[in-house]
Amino acid sequence: MILDFHTHIGQGSRSAAHVIAHHNAYGGGKSVVLPIEPGDCTAMGAYAGMRTELAIEAVDEYGDELIPFCHVNPLAPDALDQIRRYHATGKFYGFGEHKVRLACDHPDSLDIYRLCGELGWPVLIHFEYRNYSYNFEAFETVLKTCPETTFIGHAQAWWANVSAEVPRDYRAPGYTAYPKDPVVHGGLTDRWLEEYPNIYGDLSAGSGLGAISRDREFGKDFVRRHRTKLLWATDCPCRDGKGNWGEGRTRECFASQTLPLLQEYCESEDHYADITYRNGLRLLGLED
Ligand SMILES: [Zn+2]
Ligand SMILES: [Zn+2]
Repeated sequence: MILDFHTHIGQGSRSAAHVIAHHNAYGGGKSVVLPIEPGDCTAMGAYAGMRTELAIEAVDEYGDELIPFCHVNPLAPDALDQIRRYHATGKFYGFGEHKVRLACDHPDSLDIYRLCGELGWPVLIHFEYRNYSYNFEAFETVLKTCPETTFIGHAQAWWANVSAEVPRDYRAPGYTAYPKDPVVHGGLTDRWLEEYPNIYGDLSAGSGLGAISRDREFGKDFVRRHRTKLLWATDCPCRDGKGNWGEGRTRECFASQTLPLLQEYCESEDHYADITYRNGLRLLGLED
């Protein structure tokens, strides 16, 4: 089986049935469904269909193949109460995708991280210079000051920082959020995964793929050193695991790129199973 730790319902017209078809194309399993609640600091048209309420309706229909997280607008005056209400339903397994136009150490986000720690929920964060959960370098202090909270790092800034040399200035000529050059050892992400028990990495999307493919020697070593801390995931907009993005568009499926790479890098079937589903099940308290 596989556990895809990062999927969306409502990405365009992507449905719960598409999420299921996607993991079935790779042998079947489960998918974590992540809402992004629209709001002052999260508003983007594309996410209008990703509300927590819509995610839970789909999950109610499809049962335990889908694992729902919840999300709230962190600037809503009753944000913490909304989270407590979602927790009381007993239907959710975590918080995210926290994709917000705030510093990663913004006081309202810190309150949410701490509450999720109390509730035993992991928090999945999208880090992206200029756009989302900025002030990336301050996240180490968050890890230290929220030791009860388990975090999952995702997206461009998170994965660019596997290297110690990172394009951080988005105004600089030639800036890319997806660096392709060889990795310089000692990146923040690599060190945090090593030093802090409360942080995991979500290998989804072009950023996760880039982190393990841009420098294959590094990628193999990284996947071996962080065997217990990496979560396979796709964030793939395709609907069938074969690259159908809908509306006549096609693009290579992320799963079809990351799974063969992990097969190649992992030392054993056990290691591959850890990254493709066991670490995720353990983190969610779903071990069988
Ligand atoms: Zn996402
Ligand atoms: Zn796909």
